[in-house]
Amino acid sequence: MTPRQWAVVALAVLLVALAALAYARVPWRRAPAPRADQLDALGRLDAERVARGRRFHAELRPARYLAMAVGLIAALVLGLTPAGARLVELTGDHWLTRAVLGGLLVILVTELVTLPIAIWRHTVVVRYGISTQSWGAWAADLLKSYAVGAVLGALVLAGFFTITHFAPDWWWAFGAAGVAVLVVLLSFVLPVLVEPIFNRFTPMPEGALRADLLALAERDGVPVRDVLVADASRRTRAVNAYVSGLGPTRRIVVFDTMLTEATPDEVVSVTAHELGHAKDDDVLTGTLMGALGAAAAVVALHLLGSWTALLDLAGVDSIAEPRAIGLLLAISSIAGLVAGPAQAFVSRRVEARADTHALDLTGDPETFEAMQRRLGTINLADPDPPHWEHALFASHPSTVQRMAAARAYARGVR
Ligand SMILES: [Zn+2]
Repeated sequence: MTPRQWAVVALAVLLVALAALAYARVPWRRAPAPRADQLDALGRLDAERVARGRRFHAELRPARYLAMAVGLIAALVLGLTPAGARLVELTGDHWLTRAVLGGLLVILVTELVTLPIAIWRHTVVVRYGISTQSWGAWAADLLKSYAVGAVLGALVLAGFFTITHFAPDWWWAFGAAGVAVLVVLLSFVLPVLVEPIFNRFTPMPEGALRADLLALAERDGVPVRDVLVADASRRTRAVNAYVSGLGPTRRIVVFDTMLTEATPDEVVSVTAHELGHAKDDDVLTGTLMGALGAAAAVVALHLLGSWTALLDLAGVDSIAEPRAIGLLLAISSIAGLVAGPAQAFVSRRVEARADTHALDLTGDPETFEAMQRRLGTINLADPDPPHWEHALFASHPSTVQRMAAARAYARGVR
């Protein structure tokens, strides 16, 4: 068999494995709670608050779609015209400097064209009191995330183009394996290495709440090493909690905003949801699906690379040379747009399962509903967003869907 035939076989195997994993691990049949319960929940929310949440999202909407459109147009211009190749050529003649500096330059351009929209967005979230960040702190966060992105990006670019340089026929095989390993590594390393760059974590002081949360985890059969408080109030009023790490490093993290804004019972309820993710190994499933998807994408890129019309548009000889970075970006932007709604759908189903876990573990649908109402209010959610927008982008069930799930649960509907 030729390398190309091997690539076709590898792509088929990866896609079948991805489909099998998704079939086995995603709770596909977990439909949202009845609409009647949702409307009932909506009616119990403070009308003034609902209107404010809707106004907030109506103001954010142009920024969101404009950023998507501008980002896509920039990627298409850089990838489907010779502009991207020219930009990479500016960084010298050596393939490795082109790969790293040229790649970072192309990514920087796409970041800079959407920067004005990010600034506009920040003015809105500050005006609505969600963000508590000054412009200085906001800019510092932005620079930090650019720095993290540049370090990671440089490593990935150098690794990828070293492989394509030294294995021109088989790079897709090494690249697919490498990117799969990278996804797994990042998923476990990023929380430990990158989170501390943005937030400070301190152990929750001894007391009733800490003891309750540890006892909850124990009862759930999900041992955790520690309960940490993150100083999220430095930048936001939004409340949240999550469980990160695996096995011996697993920890519960609660935003400090949660401790001042929610009752201890509600913190327990949110934590029970997070333990559901840990218990069902949702992070592991997501990581494995991401690794298979990324590996399949690399092989698909290799196959797309024989489409000469595409290469001609970008003015490159091969999809695997550093001058084709713009083209790679354009293709991945399009792929991201297509894959986004599918990822959101899977995420909503998984989140709904964690909600059911929280209800089962606490046996307290009233507190769960109160907590959802509070989360929605403080985070200024649109409790019942437009159907199409929810379907395309939402990573979680809506506030009224989650409240309705608690009501259905209380009636004995599972
Ligand atoms: Zn969740």
